[in-house]
Amino acid sequence: MTYQQQELLADYGRRLLADRLTTGTGGNLSLALRSENIIAITPSGINYNEIEPQDISLLDLNSGRHLKGLKPSSEWHLHLALYKSRPEINAVTHTHSRFATTFALLHEPLPACHYLIGVAQAKEIRIAPYATFGTEELARKTVAALGHDRCILMANHGLLAVGEGLVEAYNTALYIEEVAELYYRARSLGTPVLLSDEEMDEALIRFRSYGCKPTTVSPDSCKAPAIDDEGQKNSG
Ligand code: 13P
Ligand code: ZN
Repeated sequence: MTYQQQELLADYGRRLLADRLTTGTGGNLSLALRSENIIAITPSGINYNEIEPQDISLLDLNSGRHLKGLKPSSEWHLHLALYKSRPEINAVTHTHSRFATTFALLHEPLPACHYLIGVAQAKEIRIAPYATFGTEELARKTVAALGHDRCILMANHGLLAVGEGLVEAYNTALYIEEVAELYYRARSLGTPVLLSDEEMDEALIRFRSYGCKPTTVSPDSCKAPAIDDEGQKNSG
């Protein structure tokens, strides 16, 4: 695990506060470095503005043994269980963001009220059952409820998002919080119109090729579509 990755976690911790995704010491972030069998996770109970890169806690990915840094987040069981059950993910973002957590208190899933729900590779953001924070029970229940999705609401607690990298996991948390706020506002004015199953299917297909993904897709996918002799666009 390089110092750069520890710096990245400390930076994103400060972003949690700046983006109002959490307050005080709530929430936690981690990265898996699978080639070294290590996870890096934010320390427990420290204000994000005060976390230095060397404070980031390093744990053995198999056993959870503490290797370096400060005491790990109390949710290390949860982060470890996610990495073990989802080999394609390398980052986890957990927040107590206000609007998403409002629906988590109501045990109400976030329905397909906006196409951006699709960032979670799901048609709604479901609810994981409640368990005490920091317990293996919470880890077990949350991993089971998440299934193959990228985001879930944790009953009476907060939100959890996973991704191939920290940017994906963090942005998913940010977008779903935004959708939760829009849904809350729409619900307070009237009855939001939900997208159909077919409309969400189409959005999910679009998300597969959305944006430039230099780490996973060839840089060619970011070029404008070529125009052929008949003036037709080749999507490539
Ligand atoms: P930590 O400060 O131990 O990461 O705990 C915050 C939290 O969100 C617990 O669920
Ligand atoms: Zn929490």
